[in-house]
Amino acid sequence: MALQRTFSIIKPDATKRNLTGKINALIEDAGLRIIAQKRIHMTRAQAETFYGVHRERPFFGELVDFMVSGPVVVQVLEGDDAIATYRKVMGATNPKDAEDGTIRKVFAESIEANSVHGSDAPETAEVEIAYFFAGLELVG
Ligand code: ATP
Ligand code: MG
Repeated sequence: MALQRTFSIIKPDATKRNLTGKINALIEDAGLRIIAQKRIHMTRAQAETFYGVHRERPFFGELVDFMVSGPVVVQVLEGDDAIATYRKVMGATNPKDAEDGTIRKVFAESIEANSVHGSDAPETAEVEIAYFFAGLELVG
């Protein structure tokens, strides 16, 4: 499998509990390289646009409230099959369903406060990376 890039967010529930380093360790242990990273506090407009595909879902308002409730760490990860590899390390959306050893099983608080985001396809990864990073900020 060719080298691929994916977009990651360490969500407010995790930054609040000082889990950035522990989550990064699981990311690196999975063979993914963090080639860009910054801590930001998303605006409501940024969060609404980022999760725009979920606009019609009943949890959309709460999800946006959650994503702007504190700082997040946005990242670009690079590795073999990075999108699927990271989704595997993240675990299922609902931590109750997540496999042992995954980030969400170990750290997530709930289906909403589930500690991390990862892109779900090459097309979304490209859009999400470009939304938060300039090309020069990616150092592979
Ligand atoms: P993400 O897109 O954040 O990587 P995902 O792809 O596993 O997560 P999605 O279905 O895309 O899950 O949902 C996006 C986010 O919306 C979830 O990560 C979670 O924070 C929140 N969410 C999803 N389903 C629910 C729900 N039923 N109730 C509350 N929040 C939810
Ligand atoms: Mg998703």
